[in-house]
Amino acid sequence: MESSATPFSFELYPPRTRSRTAALEETIRRLAAAGPEFLSVTYGAGGATGGESLRVLRWIRENTDVEPLAHLTCVGNDYATASALIREFLVAGVLRFLALRGDPPLGKAEGDVFLGDLTTSAELVQLIHRVQAERAPYSETTIPGHPEAARVDPRPRARTTVAAFPNGHPRSRHPREHIDALLAKQAAGADAAITQLFFHAEDYLRFVDRARAAGVVIPILPGIMPVTSPGKLARMLELTGEPLPADLSIDLEVEPTAEGRREVGIAYAARLAREVLAGGAPGIHLYAFNEHETVLAVLREAGIPLRETAAS
Ligand code: FAD
Repeated sequence: MESSATPFSFELYPPRTRSRTAALEETIRRLAAAGPEFLSVTYGAGGATGGESLRVLRWIRENTDVEPLAHLTCVGNDYATASALIREFLVAGVLRFLALRGDPPLGKAEGDVFLGDLTTSAELVQLIHRVQAERAPYSETTIPGHPEAARVDPRPRARTTVAAFPNGHPRSRHPREHIDALLAKQAAGADAAITQLFFHAEDYLRFVDRARAAGVVIPILPGIMPVTSPGKLARMLELTGEPLPADLSIDLEVEPTAEGRREVGIAYAARLAREVLAGGAPGIHLYAFNEHETVLAVLREAGIPLRETAAS
């Protein structure tokens, strides 16, 4: 599909209840109309299963012209189950993945056994490429009006993205570990990385410099989250282990109205987007929280052109 000058993308999660499905479909329509490079759908986070993620990914494929990107994790998977799951996604036409180790499921701690045969995202990257390579190397499509003939095309390569952590993974044992992990993911065949959320442009820009100096050559897409309330900020810091951004925290606390806090969050995320783009970021990935208005407002405020001005 046509892409805008500054590539952008959005992350969604499968709806937790049936009643939220229609709202998510409307959000996907509105986000797709803006012309993102891809729409990614989380996996496992908050207890969602592969089936729920795949339903949303299929809906994106069948109802929009935007490429779906599937998050996949290593959690609890033996090789046979993981291979079958990857094949199911590929057969559904999903060719882009975010390969993740995954966090311990609810009720399990980091020290508990929660992984199966796959223990790092680098192994998952390799498995995705192996499963795609093992499928027939050509795809056949029928030609209307010629029942005996078929069009034969080489099967496209799957594309795998991985996670990167500008401020280190919360459980890193030493300060360079997350750079070494990113190098391992690149060596395994990853094409790109998306970062964990961060709150200051220097965190991202310094990390990219360090990664490049260590030999990372794949694009590193900054992950930006508009945070629109003190409660949401507290939850995100707890989930990600990121340090408290004092400036944003104070601005959200002193703002008396919900609409004012939303504007603070949008302005903060838009400034961050402008700063990382000015520093050389290859695009912007926005955590959308299944809601279109806030992330589209961030892009507009950052001066990033959207495909349809009607996407408001
Ligand atoms: P890995 O890359 O496997 O790293 C995990 C640990 O292993 C690290 O300590 C690393 O240093 C070490 N390691 C890595 N490679 C090697 C190697 N070759 N040899 C030895 N050690 C190694 N979680 C979900 O459950 N579902 C989601 O949908 C989801 N989406 C996310 C999206 C983004 C953009 C990000 C940044 C994170 C997401 N997460 C998601 C969270 C993620 O699963 C956790 O942060 C997890 O703890 C680490 O995942 P990882 O893929 O970086 O792990």
